[in-house]
Amino acid sequence: MKGLIHFHSNCSNDAVLTLEKIKKLALKHNIDFICMTEHDSDIKNYEKYKTHCKKLSDKNFKFIPGIEFCINKDHFILINAEKKNTPLKQITKNKILILAHPKTPKIPEQIIKKLDGAEIWNTHVDSRFVPNKKKIKIFKKLKKNNPKLKAFTAIDFHNNNHFKPTYIITKSNNIIKDLKSGNFYTLDKRVIIPSNGNINFKLSFYLFNIFYSLMKGIGKINQVLKLRIPYKIKKSFYRFY
Ligand SMILES: [Zn+2]
Repeated sequence: MKGLIHFHSNCSNDAVLTLEKIKKLALKHNIDFICMTEHDSDIKNYEKYKTHCKKLSDKNFKFIPGIEFCINKDHFILINAEKKNTPLKQITKNKILILAHPKTPKIPEQIIKKLDGAEIWNTHVDSRFVPNKKKIKIFKKLKKNNPKLKAFTAIDFHNNNHFKPTYIITKSNNIIKDLKSGNFYTLDKRVIIPSNGNINFKLSFYLFNIFYSLMKGIGKINQVLKLRIPYKIKKSFYRFY
């Protein structure tokens, strides 16, 4: 089954599309499932939201409801969440807990042990084009404390500009079971990533990573210097990452 994970609808304050519009987008790209991850602080009535997801699901397409929440500065997504509160207490065999866009491997050990996976590539936060070397390093460090950790890729969708065909392919029809057990892989135009996270990191990826860090560095310098770069120039740079 072909799917995408880490999606926000307009039930999250920083996202714009309705579930109906997201479904339309999914059908256009022959996507079988989308794992929704609304911000827990934004979603008002999670029960109603789950019903809405179910109503829009059919034999061709499935919405799997879920939430994104923070502990300290770290973000997590809980796929197939039962309710929006107490996410760490509701982990069972049909819920999937993933560390979202990790910045550091310094996560409390008791939480690492609970994780099913971590985002090894978030195409919204990292580069759109190739996986990020730093994220792979973090994933490997986390895996030392939890050898069962699976490598997920996510597009962290908030609007149409974030759409990226970096798909999670489950090997059977049982999506939840496959995501939980690692019976999936990532399929992207440039790379295939198995769920154990062993990426064949090509030379072009290294070069792109250097370029990407350089661009980020320029962005940071600009934040300090407060230079007014015309939007047209900015936009043409954004195309590269
Ligand atoms: Zn998110």
